[in-house]
Amino acid sequence: MQTEVINIAKDYDRALSESARLIKDGQVVAIPTETVYGLAANALDENAVKKIYIAKGRPSDNPLIVHVSDISELSPLVSEIPLKAKIMAERFWPGPLTMIMKKSGIIPSVTSGGLDTVAVRMPESEYARAIIKACGVPLAAPSANLSGSPSPTNAKYVFDDMNGRIPLIIDGGKSKIGVESTVITFTTDIPTVLRPGGVTVEEIRNTIGEVNVDDAVLHELKNGETAASPGMKYKHYAPRADITILKGSLEQFIEYTSGKDFFALVFEGEEKYFEKAVTYGKPLDAVSEANRLFDALRELDEKGAKTVFARCPELSGVGLAVYNRLIRSAGFNIIEL
Ligand code: AMP
Ligand code: MG
Repeated sequence: MQTEVINIAKDYDRALSESARLIKDGQVVAIPTETVYGLAANALDENAVKKIYIAKGRPSDNPLIVHVSDISELSPLVSEIPLKAKIMAERFWPGPLTMIMKKSGIIPSVTSGGLDTVAVRMPESEYARAIIKACGVPLAAPSANLSGSPSPTNAKYVFDDMNGRIPLIIDGGKSKIGVESTVITFTTDIPTVLRPGGVTVEEIRNTIGEVNVDDAVLHELKNGETAASPGMKYKHYAPRADITILKGSLEQFIEYTSGKDFFALVFEGEEKYFEKAVTYGKPLDAVSEANRLFDALRELDEKGAKTVFARCPELSGVGLAVYNRLIRSAGFNIIEL
């Protein structure tokens, strides 16, 4: 299959008309969003959604997020909207927030990974919403990487993974946020964050009060434990290199790594201390770290890194999302210095 790339900033009308034509025809199209690029198909068409799983090589029990272009498109997808979900939508949509509710009868089982719930998000990206509108259907869209690889934040990385596997990539430039959306479920007594993202736990607490954070956010699931969010149990975001996170100060990091042959994954300004280094954002600036992390992981691969030692982000605010992705990309290899 030939994979075409259309730059939506340069060729807006054709980007929309080609996306709509292919999606209505049951095909898969990669689209830009403010979090990361998505691999989109008609969420209500079972056969189209199956093609997403095939293109990604994604396990079929890992459900997809359904993207809408307007709040009014939510109610047909769910059996009811809990009050707190409504408050959250009004506060954070459009934006990097995915909400899980009981699904309605129109959501095929493949879209929800066999669960009786569905995850829904309204992206902030104007391009993403214009594409959804042009298609006229909700779009199921996981991140546009091969399953297990870092999520792509630009069209080039989508092309690297998806060339020959899908007919069209819409290039909308670099994703503004750089990590996937916050996922919260309203199917538990107390709403529970299953995956941290651009909307922080602190912001959620300030909006709806009590909220739990699922154990799998910060810890590896033990054998036999079931994941509330099936995606949390899979190897994820992993470059080819072996990554170890070193928790401690920069001084301790330098001391621990001295004399070793490795790539340093460090914050801007720290690279001067290392022979081989890739940076991911500014120290104590989680928004910039989120923006850079997945690109930095791909750059390590491009440079042929085999052994990587990584600096550890703060665990508050958006830093929780950065840490959640980094520990998975490191296969939970963490050393306390
Ligand atoms: P991705 O599509 O790659 O951004 O991943 C979507 C994430 O949301 C995965 O971790 C899924 O397991 C999770 N997810 C999607 N739908 C549901 C659902 N109905 N219940 C629990 N987790 C979900
Ligand atoms: Mg993903």
